[in-house]
Formats: sequence, structure tokens, C-alpha cells
Amino acid sequence: MHGTDSQYDGGESLARPSESDELPAAASTVCALPNQPDPVAFKQAMDLIRRRRKYFFATVIAYMPLMWVANKISPTFRSMAITFSVWVVVLFITALYSALARCPRCGHYFHMNGMSLLYLRRCLHCQNHINAS
Ligand SMILES: [Zn+2]
Repeated sequence: MHGTDSQYDGGESLARPSESDELPAAASTVCALPNQPDPVAFKQAMDLIRRRRKYFFATVIAYMPLMWVANKISPTFRSMAITFSVWVVVLFITALYSALARCPRCGHYFHMNGMSLLYLRRCLHCQNHINAS
């Protein structure tokens, strides 16, 4: 026979039963996500990324016809080297522009994650697709 002298005395000091279920007064706003971007700004940002990608890929593709035309016009090593140098500069600028385009969803660079520059069709940070609008 164990002495069960359990005496529950005074459990009322933990919670006040009087006014605990009163709603806060300013609960009228519709739940808006704090980081939800403006749809118009989102589309503009995605258009900007797409446009800069287009310039970059157009520069890459233009390499062969450009060198072909340069070879037709002036088939010397010097003019070919100049054409190539101009192409590299343009490629660098377009790559830089597209690399510095920010993803409107996560705010990071769309094509750049750390030191890696990848022209995938999704954001390297939040997987936001290039055709998202
Ligand atoms: Zn992103």
C-alpha cells in the first residue's frame, strides 16, 4: 500500500480564464505574402532576363557568319584578329549583362551562383523557370 498523497491544489495560477479568447482588433487585412512581387514588375524582370539571354545567344551564334563575312571582306590575319577581338568584347558585355540580371522571385542573379555562370532555363537559386510570367 503506497501512500498516494497526491493533492492538486491551486492549478489556477497558470492561466487566467477571464479574457483569454479575445481576438486582436486589427485582424482585417487579407493575408498578403510579404515577399510576393508585383506581377507587372515580375514580368518586366523576366522579360529583361529573356532579352539579355537572347542577346548573349545571338552573339554566340553570330560568331560563324561574322568570321565568314570578315574572311570574305578581308582575308588577312590582321582583320580576322580584329573581328575576333570585337566579337569577344561584345560577347563579354552581353554575358555580363545577362549575368547581372536578377531573378525577380528570389532576388539573386538568375544565371550566376557564386563563381559559376550557367545559362540554364531555370534560376540557379530558386528554380524559377525562364518562361515564368
Ligand atoms: Zn530565383
